[in-house]
Amino acid sequence: MQTTVMRIEDLPSLSETVKTHGLGANKKLGQHFLLDSNLTDKIARLAEPLTGHSVAEIGPGPGGLTRALLLRGAKTLTAIEMDARFIPALAEIGDLSDGRMEIAQGDALRYDIAAHLPAPRKIVANLPYNVGTKMLINWVTASPIFWTQMVLMFQLEVAQRVVAGAGDPHYGRLAVLCQSVASCRLAFEVPARAFTPPPKVNSAVIVLEPLKRPFEDLKLLGRVTQAAFGQRRKMLRRSLRALAEQSDISLDAWLMECGVDPKARPETLPVSAFQKLTTALKAHLE
Ligand code: SAM
Repeated sequence: MQTTVMRIEDLPSLSETVKTHGLGANKKLGQHFLLDSNLTDKIARLAEPLTGHSVAEIGPGPGGLTRALLLRGAKTLTAIEMDARFIPALAEIGDLSDGRMEIAQGDALRYDIAAHLPAPRKIVANLPYNVGTKMLINWVTASPIFWTQMVLMFQLEVAQRVVAGAGDPHYGRLAVLCQSVASCRLAFEVPARAFTPPPKVNSAVIVLEPLKRPFEDLKLLGRVTQAAFGQRRKMLRRSLRALAEQSDISLDAWLMECGVDPKARPETLPVSAFQKLTTALKAHLE
């Protein structure tokens, strides 16, 4: 007699899974599902190679991206989901994963990926809109950087704020911070209608890979960019004055040392100039 071994490919479609498990979307938890396996596979492909990597997936929901990541060969996949309603549907995937999948139920903001997953690690997620940016900031400011790649879906406007260069209207603190530790690119946009239920805005997937030499003084860089972009319309000689006064260098000398035009506005300065300003200021604060 022939026995058939069930595989992830043999699972019911995601729409059926959502229906049979009664998984209506909870807006408070930013739930917008990707039920199209072509799209989840496209996201998983961006994270290749997955073999040999521990993957943390945040907010797997009914598990579309989870399936794709396992099918594309993730060595292990840890699915961190806050909403307990999804656990049975995720367990069905886990049962067919040859022991590669682990489910952690709880708040991903409190989950220590570096402590739980062996390196090399990747983070792949269609993030909940309400806490996605906070998670991203936690991961880029982690010291040392514990991930080798992040493939993340955000609302388009946040994705644009991460990848923007100087002169771009989306350029600001988030771009300077993220690009100080990682190469950041927008891989593709995803229209709102691709989600169930559709959110109000379009989304995009971004890919971050750590720089060989990430900038280290992120705290002070954050103070410099906060001062500069906090008063976006003002020239730097106005917005950075208070910071200079906390150091033993004059504002003019500080800006001159860094080759920064006192009349410039923050959105015109490249990431490297903010790093220069930070390093120079540090020497005069100590
Ligand atoms: N990955 C699924 C997909 O693409 O269809 C669902 C994505 S949905 C945008 C966001 C998911 O994150 C939801 O499943 C939601 O329950 C979960 N979530 C929201 N806040 C969370 C948190 N703090 N920690 C872990 N998961 C969270």
